[in-house]
Amino acid sequence: MAKVSFPQYRTSMLRREVAIDLGTTNTLIYSPRKGIILQEPSVVAINKHDETVVAVGKKALLMVGKTPADIEAIKPLKNGVIAEFKYARLMLQHFLWKAIKRVPLIRLRAVISVPYGITQVERQAIITAGKRVGIREIFLIEEPLAAAIGTGIPIEEKSSNIIINLGGGVTEVAAVSFGGIAYARSLREGGSSLDKAIQRYLYHQRSMEIGQATAEALKKEIGYAYKPPPHMGFITKGINWQTLKPDKTLVTAREVNEAISPVLYPFAQAIKDVFENVHPQFASDMFKRGVLLVGGGALLKNIDMFFQNELDLPIKIASEPLTCTIRGASKAMKYLKHLNYLKLYRA
Ligand code: ADP
Ligand code: MG
Repeated sequence: MAKVSFPQYRTSMLRREVAIDLGTTNTLIYSPRKGIILQEPSVVAINKHDETVVAVGKKALLMVGKTPADIEAIKPLKNGVIAEFKYARLMLQHFLWKAIKRVPLIRLRAVISVPYGITQVERQAIITAGKRVGIREIFLIEEPLAAAIGTGIPIEEKSSNIIINLGGGVTEVAAVSFGGIAYARSLREGGSSLDKAIQRYLYHQRSMEIGQATAEALKKEIGYAYKPPPHMGFITKGINWQTLKPDKTLVTAREVNEAISPVLYPFAQAIKDVFENVHPQFASDMFKRGVLLVGGGALLKNIDMFFQNELDLPIKIASEPLTCTIRGASKAMKYLKHLNYLKLYRA
C-alpha cells in the first residue's frame, strides 16, 4: 500500500496565509481568499494602570488627545518602523484576533511588507513582533516591490518602472526592474509631515494653534499639491495663541498649498535622484513609462500635476493607491520559491 504522508497533508490543509501591511498610519491584513479582512488606523489605546488594551484601530484613533487620565492612545509606529515595541506587538495581536477569528495564529504564514530603507535592527523588531504574537512563518517583502506587484506590473517581465510610495511617515522612490529593486531612495517624511507643515504655517501666519487631526482634515479637504482653486476655503477651529481664546477662521486652499509645498519638493528631488542613478539601459524605458504613484499621499489633489510640472515626465496614479502594497504582498506569496524577492524568517 502506498504510504501517505498524512501529517504534512494535514498541516497544509490547516495553514492559513495572510499578508500584513503594518504602516505608520494604517494597518491592513489581506487574505488571498477573502481580500482585505482588516483596514484600520495603526493606533492602540492602553489602560495605563494594568497595560491592557482598551481599543485598537478606528476606536482607538477617536481617543487620541481625548482620553481620560488612565487611558493613553498610542501610535506605536513612526516613520515606517516600530517605535514602541510592546504596543506595536499588542496592536498587531489584537488586529490579527479581529481579522482571523477562528484560526490559531500558530498556523499562520504571513508576508509582511516593510519599507525599503529600514535598518537590520528595525527589520528584526518587526520579525520579533510577528513571532511573539505566534505567527509560525514570516516572510518579509520590501514595500516598493510589493506596491509594484500590486499595481499589476508583472514582476517576471523584463521591464523597468519607477514607483513612489507616499506613506504617512515614509516616502520611498524605487526603480523596480526584473523583479528586484535596482535603486531606491527612502525619506523619513510623509503625509504626517504635510500635516505638521500646515500646523506650523497657521501658527506663524495666523497665530492659530490646531491639532494634527484638524491639519489632516484640512489637507484632505482643501489640500492641493499644485494650482489650488482661488476661491476655496475651509472653516477651521483652533486656539489663538495670542489671545488664548478659541478661534474659528476661514483657511484657504492657497494657504494650505503654500504650507505643504516645501515638504513636497524633496519628494520630486528623490525621483530625480533615482532617475540619475539607474542604468542608462533602463532609463529610456522608464522615461516612456513615467512614474507610478501609490500610498495615501497619491490621493492629495493635483499631486500628479505637481510631479509632472517638476519633472516633465508622465505620471500615473495607481488605482486604489491605499491598498496596492498589501495586494502586491499577498500576490507575492505565489513567488515564495523566489527567495530573492521574499525573505523567510521561521519562528
Ligand atoms: P502608511 O502606509 O504609512 O500607513 P498610507 O499609505 O496608508 O500610509 O497613507 C497615509 C497617509 O495618506 C496619511 O498621511 C494620510 O493623511 C494621507 N492621505 C489619505 N487620504 C488622503 C487624501 N485624500 N488626501 C491627502 N492625503 C491623504
Ligand atoms: Mg504603506
